[in-house]
Amino acid sequence: TAPAVVTGAAPNDEPIQPCVEIKHTQLLINGNFVDAASGKTFSTLDPRTGEAIARVAEGDAEDINRAVAAARRAFDEGPWPRMSAYERCRVLLRFADLIESHAEEIAALETWDSGKPLEQAAGAEVPMVARFVRYYAGWADKIHGLVVPADGPHHAQVLHEPIGVAGQIIPWNFPLLMFAWKVAPALACGNTVVLKTAEQTPLSALYVASLLHEAGVPEGVLNVISGFGPTAGAALCSHMDVDKLAFTGSTGTGKIILELAARSNLKPVTLELGGKSPFVVMDDADVDQAVELAHHAVFFNQGQCCCAGSRTFVHERVYDEFVEKSKARALNRVVGDPFRKGVEQGPQIDGEQFKKILQYVKSGVDTGATLVAGGERVGDRGFYVHPTDEMKIAQEEIFGPVQTILKFRGVEEVMRRANATPYGLAAGVFTRSLDVANTMARALRAGTVWINCYDVFDAAIPFGGFKMSGVGREKGPYGLRNYLQTKSVVTPIRDAAW
Ligand code: ADP
Repeated sequence: TAPAVVTGAAPNDEPIQPCVEIKHTQLLINGNFVDAASGKTFSTLDPRTGEAIARVAEGDAEDINRAVAAARRAFDEGPWPRMSAYERCRVLLRFADLIESHAEEIAALETWDSGKPLEQAAGAEVPMVARFVRYYAGWADKIHGLVVPADGPHHAQVLHEPIGVAGQIIPWNFPLLMFAWKVAPALACGNTVVLKTAEQTPLSALYVASLLHEAGVPEGVLNVISGFGPTAGAALCSHMDVDKLAFTGSTGTGKIILELAARSNLKPVTLELGGKSPFVVMDDADVDQAVELAHHAVFFNQGQCCCAGSRTFVHERVYDEFVEKSKARALNRVVGDPFRKGVEQGPQIDGEQFKKILQYVKSGVDTGATLVAGGERVGDRGFYVHPTDEMKIAQEEIFGPVQTILKFRGVEEVMRRANATPYGLAAGVFTRSLDVANTMARALRAGTVWINCYDVFDAAIPFGGFKMSGVGREKGPYGLRNYLQTKSVVTPIRDAAW
């Protein structure tokens, strides 16, 4: 097949030199950047070349202990949970302002460490991070409890209190956005945090955490540990002094995390896990629009999205036209150095993901799928993959630029097939029929259903999974519940005239 459009520096030319200085590579504990207790460091790699960008302190159990102790002190002794909610709101608002005023450096770091197009990081993700922080800053002084009517002569109040020390573990596909989704609601509610970043992408979180301190957050309120999952991550999950865990990542790792929480102190856990989301195109849909949105639904962020619309179901009457147009779109996708203007797709995050994706494509072909475009490596350096269009009844999450286009005949059939997966994160429905849209929206077992759109994210709209895609919801007022304890306070009322 013809290759996808590959621009300039992808990948055999010299990579474009990022215009940003790496300021922070140590662990952030109790307001200070410090080395790991062991003195160990690891390399974070440039996905364009596979070469090291920087050596980063490698946190382990001892560093988690130090960070949790700092977070515990900052919670138990304050001032953060006890300062006025308005003051917490103002710190978070200053933080959002600082994110905006350093947007260029932040976006460049994110692109360098993760390989995502700079235009995407700068144009969409950094603004979303600031918006998200402001959304939860706005909640900080609007969290209040209830007074409930009791049967007897009792005054019954329900207090919503911060839960304590929150342990948070984030993935590498959206390092900054995941930082914001986790940290902003936790801090708005008055909690303290120990955050473990993904080993592939430690840089941007350290940088923005330093901005949060510049905004005036007290020491120990946010601690950031770079390091690996089975060491630093597992130590955080097992820690007896961590009151709550929040995780975004794969379903397999989510199971381990839930087990570690259960075996230690039964800390509550929210999980945002994998997906194999259906994108359903009915025969009355605008095919050109559906092709474009289905393309973005799966190829956005190099296909590395938990909610990627990776099972494209297309009605038989428009199937051939849809496949032809999808193939043309995939072949036109601009793969290249993510720092270059106009590039739509950078490299995959690392060699492991890169190999896994190409193996999935091969297994699809081996089991009878038709490969209509791409599916090979681009160049011989870095982790660039040709966008792939393929027909295959697929069940597993590929996490790469691979679109699987499946044919269906009717609404009942496609609803059954769309739900025939252990996952339930998101779904898309393309139709002009209100009846079909509403029927499918009710029938689909997914945490988000996008109708005639996809990947619409908003700070106020809850996000999370049915089935093995997760536990709990993030964003919107629902996101606050993860970080609040409920306390009932009951007082007798002596005056019988109550
Ligand atoms: P992937 O396999 O795509 O890297 P993971 O779900 O394993 O996705 O990784 C997401 C996050 O979970 C990362 O920060 C990683 O370090 C962390 N992690 C991986 N394994 C464990 C574990 N056993 N305990 C705690 N955290 C882990």
